[in-house]
Amino acid sequence: MELLNIKKLDLAGKKVFIRCDFNVPMDEFGNISDDRRIRSALSTINYCLDQDCAVILASHLGRPKGEVVEKYSIAPVARRLQQLLKREVLLACDVIGEDAMAKASALKETEVLLLENLRFEIGETQNDPAFSKKLSSMAEFYVNDAFGVSHRAHASVEGITHLFDEKHKAAGFLLQKEIQFFGKLIQKPVRPFAAIVGGSKVSGKLEALINLLPRVDKILVGGGMAFTFLKQMGYDIGASLVEDDLLEDAQHIMDEAKKLGVKFYLPIDVIAADKFAEDAVSKIVTAQEIPSGWMGLDIGPATVRLYREALNDVQTVLWNGPMGVYEMDKFARGSNKIAHFVADSYATTVVGGGDTADLVQRVGVDEEMTFISTGGGASLELLEGKVLPGVLPLIIEEA
Ligand code: AMP
Repeated sequence: MELLNIKKLDLAGKKVFIRCDFNVPMDEFGNISDDRRIRSALSTINYCLDQDCAVILASHLGRPKGEVVEKYSIAPVARRLQQLLKREVLLACDVIGEDAMAKASALKETEVLLLENLRFEIGETQNDPAFSKKLSSMAEFYVNDAFGVSHRAHASVEGITHLFDEKHKAAGFLLQKEIQFFGKLIQKPVRPFAAIVGGSKVSGKLEALINLLPRVDKILVGGGMAFTFLKQMGYDIGASLVEDDLLEDAQHIMDEAKKLGVKFYLPIDVIAADKFAEDAVSKIVTAQEIPSGWMGLDIGPATVRLYREALNDVQTVLWNGPMGVYEMDKFARGSNKIAHFVADSYATTVVGGGDTADLVQRVGVDEEMTFISTGGGASLELLEGKVLPGVLPLIIEEA
């Protein structure tokens, strides 16, 4: 699959709108805890600046759901971007309001403007054509470099692409790199191929789990989502996170795995806590013995050992979702140990998802991974064989 290439655009001195993914994780003090997504966009931004373009950047941050919510202001991103680019970044105080339109129109060559959080406008997630039109009116060229959101048919990702012809739109370098990497991974993964899937809920990754089954040899489940499976297997899971409406789906996944000969692993022990807090009382218990009223917040040491064994012969690892509540030190151990093991292996190791990328960076093993994708949901959808709505309009049609 070949994408419209930014290098083929006649950009010199023109105004370019670049959709970026600056949806970065923040700590409890409002600091950016992992700026990988911002750094990953620099190649495309610098390329445009080297062409003397006036550069308009836009991204979402969090889920403000169409309202202006101060804590989701993109201002911290503008500050970090300014440090990384070593040049001034103008910030518009709205998205398509008076300020943004005036600043975009006055923007000169080699200047950079960042719009406020796209999701302050409800039209963004609704893929509203009027909103796309307003965004498109700011620039002569459109570049999508927001891999992490390319699986969403949103106004700045999908709708806007219809307002530029093939000579005026393209994929940025980051988007190209991600699509190429996953293209190769789907076509010919070196086997055995294991997926480590964690995070909070089954619901967010249900389809991905089903679609990954025919492609992988092993699935290792951790995080909150494991408890829906454990409950379905008849275990008493106490007050652990569970999605009762998905018990049947969990059974279906386990049945499918069996049918396809995919080895399906669940935690055999957990760190159980009496409450969801750093100062909780906690203990290691087997999956059979979670005390009533307690919740499993991490995988236990026996599971870590089991998962290491299971990963020993693996040649390709895809990891999406933490094994526990890694944000709290007390429940980060399982994720940390798996991170070290994956990092030390000679397999091709692919990490996807904001949380998992944040996790491996906190552990300090990010440099050891083969590839850290800036998109969790997007990378899973690619592996499922889907064509992403934000990428489809940028594919070069074969003659
Ligand atoms: P997701 O966004 O679905 O990938 O989930 C990531 C979140 O899952 C992280 O913020 C973790 O704190 C959370 N998480 C992981 N394990 C558990 C667990 N056992 N119980 C509750 N939350 C969890």
